Amino acid sequence: MERTVAQIQFPAPPLPRLTRVAAYARVSSGKDAMLHSLSAQVSYYSDMIQKHPGWQYAGVYADEAITGTKDAREGFQRLLAACRTSEVDMVITKSISRLARNTVTLLGTVRELKGLGVDVFFEEQNIHTMSADGELMMTILASYAQEESRSASENQLWRIRRNFEAGMPWNGTMLGYRYDRGTLVVVPEEAAIVQEIFSDYLSGCGLDAIVKKLNTTGVRTRNGHNWCRNGVRFVLMNEAYTGGLLLQKTYRENHINKKKLFNEGQLPQYRVQDSHEAIIPAEQFAAVQAEMQRRANQCKNTGKKRNTYPFSGMVVCGICGDRYRRKMNHGKPIWVCSRYNLYGKEACSSKAVPEDVLLALAADVAPLGEITAIRAERGNALVFTLGDGSEIFKRWQDRSRSESWTDEKRAEARRKTIERNRRHA
Ligand SMILES: [Zn+2]
Repeated sequence: MERTVAQIQFPAPPLPRLTRVAAYARVSSGKDAMLHSLSAQVSYYSDMIQKHPGWQYAGVYADEAITGTKDAREGFQRLLAACRTSEVDMVITKSISRLARNTVTLLGTVRELKGLGVDVFFEEQNIHTMSADGELMMTILASYAQEESRSASENQLWRIRRNFEAGMPWNGTMLGYRYDRGTLVVVPEEAAIVQEIFSDYLSGCGLDAIVKKLNTTGVRTRNGHNWCRNGVRFVLMNEAYTGGLLLQKTYRENHINKKKLFNEGQLPQYRVQDSHEAIIPAEQFAAVQAEMQRRANQCKNTGKKRNTYPFSGMVVCGICGDRYRRKMNHGKPIWVCSRYNLYGKEACSSKAVPEDVLLALAADVAPLGEITAIRAERGNALVFTLGDGSEIFKRWQDRSRSESWTDEKRAEARRKTIERNRRHA
């Protein structure tokens, strides 16, 4: 389900009359202390409303939630009835979880009340539903409320607000923006990085190439770390950069295993348009999503399974300790330290080894099945470790020399390796 959250219309300037304010309180029963707190809440609200200048007391409505039974919420129904007959202009309640027990009910109720011109004020979250940010904030908070309402501890409700300020779904670490009093404000230097990531991707760069470019040009994440593939992927997939928000993209399977699942229609999703200034045009964002899909399909169709290359997981960088991985370089396979590959030669001064070289040297050393590890050292050295723990040291020649190899020589080396492998399989 997809909904567009409409632009909030402010009500016409009110006539100078008193705002009729009602309060809603709800407590769990079964505990004497809680029952006591219900009467305390009632007197707190009636006192507060009657003392507030410009406000007119319109009643305190209260419900007792009885554990293990269906929550009839008579007080709440009476409050709604009073709103429907225009006896109330504003409702005060302690927190979101008091008003409704799940996202759907909460938003349904708030929307109905808004339609009736009734503002709801949540004390703990400090939100007026009639404010410009109200609906957006409501949606976000509501998704937490659903989770939190299952929690036994009422104190946990405070977490809702903290999490919100910490910033889901655009947490304080969303590159390109700062969260400032309810709005996302563009940070130009960061926006430029985001734009560069998008255009690099569309011009054909892979995730690794983008990661390397960011890390070698000194660009850090919002938390000051080096970039990684997932960080870049997250930027490329973050629809919030188009100035809209898709809320409730994920949800928790349940409150016990807390497994995060992608929302594919199990729960309502809310799309809020133009909630903040865009960094990436919607068309470019769509193009990137399509391109990601295309590349993923291409891998599925033509790509070999992971870890099927003869040296996968075997070659270790003798300089930094990271694994070597295979990549294509000018149409030829080479093996390169993954740290060097992602972070550049500042991070690791190792050298790539052409796959041909690895194949030829390995063929000289032993059948591949007997080689347990290969360490790439400085000075074009390769150290082969065999199953019995012995090490064999080999040196290889630079590309210019190895390229003078004839095709026959190369084919022979390949054949030798494959044959030996087969024998030992
Ligand atoms: Zn390395």
